[in-house]
Amino acid sequence: MSLIFLAGAVALAVFVLPLLYYRPVFKSRCPACGETHSIERIPRPALVRTLLGYLPTKYYICYSCMKRFLRFA
Ligand SMILES: [Zn+2]
Repeated sequence: MSLIFLAGAVALAVFVLPLLYYRPVFKSRCPACGETHSIERIPRPALVRTLLGYLPTKYYICYSCMKRFLRFA
């Protein structure tokens, strides 16, 4: 029973933690400063790549304000 709870907690952490660090957006522009030219795709974090590899997300960094965000493709 506690194993199920643990698995649920791990799943929740895996889903929620990337969203705390990467702001989810639907447009390919920086959510913080609105910059469109100085954003660049970065590799997905290893944890996201292994556990959430099926999600159609692209990760970006904005070199204007150094914020990271993810875009749902
Ligand atoms: Zn920015």
